[in-house]
Amino acid sequence: MKIEQIGQKLGLNSFHDVPKGNVSGFDYYVTLVNIDLLVKMNFIVFVFNKKLTKYEKTAISKAQGLPIMRIESIGLQENAVMLPLKYGFKRLEKHQKHLDKLAALFTRLELKNLSHCPFCGNEDNDTYGKLKGIPIAVHKACVDGYVEQVETHVETTAKTVKNLPKSILFAILGAIIGLIPTILTLSIFSTYFALLFALIPLCSFYGYKKGNGPRAAYVPVIITVISMIIAPTFIVLMYMMVADYEQVTLSTLLGDPEMMSSFQYDLGISVLFIAIGVLIAWKNIYKQTHAQVKKDLKELKNNN
Ligand SMILES: [Zn+2]
Repeated sequence: MKIEQIGQKLGLNSFHDVPKGNVSGFDYYVTLVNIDLLVKMNFIVFVFNKKLTKYEKTAISKAQGLPIMRIESIGLQENAVMLPLKYGFKRLEKHQKHLDKLAALFTRLELKNLSHCPFCGNEDNDTYGKLKGIPIAVHKACVDGYVEQVETHVETTAKTVKNLPKSILFAILGAIIGLIPTILTLSIFSTYFALLFALIPLCSFYGYKKGNGPRAAYVPVIITVISMIIAPTFIVLMYMMVADYEQVTLSTLLGDPEMMSSFQYDLGISVLFIAIGVLIAWKNIYKQTHAQVKKDLKELKNNN
């Protein structure tokens, strides 16, 4: 369902094309967020005029009954909370009660709506810019200056490839470590678990980060390639070990039709599962690269 429709069902007005509501003085917006490549979820977002403390975040999580999602964006970070639509639009009364409860908490915590430009701190905004789909009062000059500054930074760091070889090496080591749970379950249960394969790209990316390589937009691709190579390589090594144990060559071993078909099966499964693993891990990796920053900047520029 489109957010406009959800806004209508919740009885909200549209503000710069975004459903906007107000509960006891607190503005909120409805937004649609990609959880991963396949899942999208609706959230309500409150944006405050200061960074939330750990205490405040915990209190809000408690009131929500769920952990709150942090907004990772170029201009909104610790001052916005994104809460899943708990009761949705099917139980409007419960939804409203829940909002009232949250608003009472915000009042008790003495929180206030964001009313200043997040880039310079002044209140006399002259336009609205979109950050993660939320219209935020800003100055055009502040946005232009900020966009230029971040773009230059992103370009310069993307060109700095000094740490790239080291990072790729660490990414390979990470992928090998990420493969361990799969090897263990394979040797104990003689079966594959698809979810464990997601650890391979995640560990690989963790290794990449340890190498301080550039967070360029191509990083998820590097991680995918390493992950796609590492799992089938492991299968080949496993069969080479079996051949060694049987004191034959790998081609002799695979000359046996039964062996060959199980080899092909293992190879196929590992490629398929690693593809699923990459699909699960992709969004997580992507949002830590400059590709995400560029996307956010584009949104900000287009709505300015
Ligand atoms: Zn400003």
